[in-house]
Parts: sequence; structure tokens; C-alpha cells
Amino acid sequence: MKVANLDERIHVLDNSSNVMTVINEIAESGLQEEAFYVLDVGDIVKKHQIWKELLPRVEPFYAVKCNDSLTVLEVLASLGTGFDCASKGEISKVLSIGVDPSRIIFANPAKPASHIRHAAAVGVDITTVDNESELHKLKKIHPNAKVVIRIRCDAEVSQCPLGMKFGCDPNYEAPNLLRLSRMLDLDVIGISFHVGSGCQDPPVFYRAIRHVRTLFDLSKDLGFKPYLVDIGGGYPGDTGTSIAKIAEVINSAIDEFFNTDDVQIIAEPGRFFVASAFTLATAIHSKRSVRNDKISPNSVTNNMYYINDGVYGSFNCILYDHQHVVPTPLKNGCGKLIPSSIWGPTCDGLDQVVENVLLHDMDLGDWIIFKNMGAYTLPVASPFNGFPIPKVHVVVDENIWLLLKDLLPLTDDHFVIGNTPANLQLGLDIGGSKVDDWTSPPMGLSTS
Ligand code: PLP
Repeated sequence: MKVANLDERIHVLDNSSNVMTVINEIAESGLQEEAFYVLDVGDIVKKHQIWKELLPRVEPFYAVKCNDSLTVLEVLASLGTGFDCASKGEISKVLSIGVDPSRIIFANPAKPASHIRHAAAVGVDITTVDNESELHKLKKIHPNAKVVIRIRCDAEVSQCPLGMKFGCDPNYEAPNLLRLSRMLDLDVIGISFHVGSGCQDPPVFYRAIRHVRTLFDLSKDLGFKPYLVDIGGGYPGDTGTSIAKIAEVINSAIDEFFNTDDVQIIAEPGRFFVASAFTLATAIHSKRSVRNDKISPNSVTNNMYYINDGVYGSFNCILYDHQHVVPTPLKNGCGKLIPSSIWGPTCDGLDQVVENVLLHDMDLGDWIIFKNMGAYTLPVASPFNGFPIPKVHVVVDENIWLLLKDLLPLTDDHFVIGNTPANLQLGLDIGGSKVDDWTSPPMGLSTS
């Protein structure tokens, strides 16, 4: 396993520190102006434990598109997950951290030819298909591909439906694709589906797995030896959410339809692993207090706060992922609550983060925290209008660090040890860490 990217070193926290104390210390240092993230590696490790407990028969193949931070990928690789990649770039990134190509599914049913060529060259063989022309393309470019037919089975309610773009009809199209695969002498190894990201309809997993069973039987009749059931994504990831209900439905469907050891069941969770692991800290750089003298002379009727990240940056998740983001002022306020709106830094009127929320009066330089910002935020963010994409400060609790160390491939180089916060603040590097990773490093980091 190669040495970690120095930009994403993990800072080990002592017992007295946690994500919020780190955010407080960075924000209160007075040196930090830009918005920043704190990524809690322990949160990802805990999610992995929850997955193993609740879905013991389902191997997670993390959907890289959701958040391709190198640390996220390395931590998940060290925990033994596979990866769902959508492109040549994602495949290269996952391979670059030492993951075996057999642990990757190229789960994009509509792939550019050059990306398929790349997959074939590096030994990524498993790929999803939902249409005839893709099968012909594979026959030409990657005839040894292991084909997974992706069917459509949509949740009645989901945050981001996918069925309008991907997934063939399980009753009519999928059988035809199986027959065509047979004619083309392509190897169909399984069936996949994605019920929609942010699924709020757990029973849909039962319906989908039942379709998979039917198609398994048909493919066996056609002479294939299917062994892979890919139950896609759709699992919630925010703090306070649970996959228990979905897991219950999945487990009982597996028991009913795939009560046998010769079937490999995988899933492609994205937001489940990363949503709650990333907390975003933003600062107010401008403020407009709106008054209405007719209603109440001199009193503020609403506040408009302008912060240093917006819908062109991390909050693209509002537009693309239909996220509802919740602002929490870092300082406890006092006085009356005032109707407020929160805006991003660009000159675009669309750049609104929160339309209307009751907040205590805040000042320039005050910080607003947004939790659950790990899914579909950073990989999509742009520096539009010249505003930088927030940096990520990676932290891990001491105990989890010990666990991860034992689970190498993460090397010691990944961790910041031997530097005191004061040294980091002064720009001195005595322990091999890259000081400019920290615009203003936090206090309370373990130095041993
Ligand atoms: N797999 C595929 C093919 C996807 O397109 C997505 C998300 O769009 C995922 C997995 C991740 O699913 P989720 O966002 O529900 O975690």
C-alpha cells in the first residue's frame, strides 16, 4: 500500500477533544478566514461496524462518486470494502491506493468507450449494463467483462430518483438483454438495481430482490452461472438516521430468495458512509440588516448573512442532491430570535444557502456550523467567482487510530504525531507533517 497523500493527514485527537472542540479552536484562533471541514474518521469506522452488524451478508462497495476524498477511500479500503466506480478517473484513484481490481465494480451502465478500454487494461471486469448498445460495446472492447444487468425498481419516495436515467425493465428488457448476452457470448454474472438515493421506502428492496431472483432463474435457464446480487445504494447517512428498517427488509428478502452460500451479495452505499463524517464550518463575512420603519422604527425585521461557502461550493448539494441543510451558530446567542437568511459568497442571486431561519443576532466573523455535509458536496464543488473550496482537516479519536493502525494499509505517515499545535501554528514542522495543510491548526491534538 502506498504512502498516504500528505494533503490529507489524519490528526490524532486526545481524549479531551472532539470534532466540535477542534472546530472551536480553529475558529477562535482568529487566524482562520476560509470555510473548512472537519472529517471524523471514527464516524466512518462506526458506520462500517453498523453495516457489518445489520447487514452481515452484504459486502459494501463504496460509491466513490459520493465523496472521493483520499482519506475516505483509504479508510474504507483498510476496512476491507470494495468500491463502486463510475469512470476511468475513479477507477484510477481507487487502484492508486492499492485496491485489487477485483474489488471494483464499474457501476455505470453508460460508459464512454475509452473508459471501458481503461477498465479492461487494468483488470476491472465487473460492470453494469442496462441496454443493448452497451452490450455490443462491451463485446467489441471488453469481451471478457463480467456483466451485471441493472434493472429498474424505484422507491416510491427518494431524495434523488435514478430510475428515469438507469435501469431496464425487469420483466421485458432484462430478459432480452440476457438473451442478447448469450448470443454475444458475454458472461452475465449477476443482476443489480438502485432504488434511488436517499430511499424512504424500505419495502422497495423486497420487490427489487424478488425481481433479481426471477432473473437469476432465467439466466440459469439460459446457461449462465449467476452469482452476484448487487442491491445498489439508497441508505441514509445523516446523524440520527438508521439503516435498521432497510436492513430488516433486505435480510428477510435475502433469506427468502437467496438462502444459499454460493451467491455473493454486494451493495453500493455512498451517503451512508460519509454524510455524518463531515462537518462544515463557515464564517459570516458580510451582513445586511433589513429594517422596516413603518412596522417598527429602527428595529431589524430580518438579517441577511453572507458566508464563505455557497451553492457553487459545498452547498451545491442543495441544488443537486436536494439536501436540506441546517445551520447551527457556533456561539450560543442571546436576545430575541430574528428571521434570517443565509447566502453564499458569489455574486449570483441563486446563491442562497438557507431561505428563512430564526437566529439570534450574529456579527461579522461569527461561525455557522453545518453537520452532515459529507455526501455529494466536495466532489461537485467549484471555485466559481474565485471563492476557494473548503479544505478538509482530518481527525481521529486515539482509540480508533489504534484500531486503524492495526488494520494497515494506512501507514504511520498518515498521522500527525510529534508536532505540537504551537509548532504548527508557528509554521514549524518537527515531525514530518505538512504545515500548510492547516490554515490554522487546532489545539488539543495528541502529540504522542
Ligand atoms: N451506485 C450508483 C450506481 C449510484 O448512481 C449511486 C448514487 O447516485 C450510488 C451507488 C450511491 O447511492 P447513495 O447515494 O444512495 O448512497
